[in-house]
Amino acid sequence: MLSFNGNKLLTTGGGGMIATDDAALARRDNYLTTQAKDERVEAVHKEVGYNYRFTNAQAAVGCALLERFEEFLRSKRRIAARCADGFGDLPRLTTIAEAPWASSGFWLYTVLIDAAGFRIDSRSLIRSLRESGIEARPLWEPRPQSPARVGSLALGCPVAERLTEQSRCPPSSTALAVPHQDQVIDAVRAAAARRSR
Ligand SMILES: *Cc1c(COP(=O)(O)O)cnc(C)c1O
Repeated sequence: MLSFNGNKLLTTGGGGMIATDDAALARRDNYLTTQAKDERVEAVHKEVGYNYRFTNAQAAVGCALLERFEEFLRSKRRIAARCADGFGDLPRLTTIAEAPWASSGFWLYTVLIDAAGFRIDSRSLIRSLRESGIEARPLWEPRPQSPARVGSLALGCPVAERLTEQSRCPPSSTALAVPHQDQVIDAVRAAAARRSR
């Protein structure tokens, strides 16, 4: 499943794509996402279908942005490299490592903050950055912690819960200019230094 939501590296404004090498599954997906029509003219439905059709206008946006994909990817990788440089010496702040077998798109740049070592927890960091006019965001809460899931069976996800608590996403838009990114890096470093005294 690929998401082409508005905040992705390749977007069509919304929607997404299912990729499969299973022809039967592809036919089934196509059937269900295009209203499960069993008779084209009289619109007979033997099953409940959905109008999940991707419009031509959306596809046109996607095709145009596909031409700029390499450029967007370079921006994300430049931002990640600059963050890795800027944060590399901060104790207990972990930047995203790239696996030796992969080339990351660094879609949503994220750092992990070990509150004990960094002397500022992730929530205080967000507050501190906001005072400098910079919006950093948390990641998504683990599903079992969502208020929408109250009452559901929850087995506990200690690792996911810790990662959610420790992770924060500084701005990493492809539109982020180098001087602005440096402001973000400086603000994180200043917040860390203030708390370390
Ligand atoms: C974008 C994204 C989603 C949501 O996809 P939508 O197309 O917006 O529904 C879910 N999980 C991850 C990891 C994503 O990056």
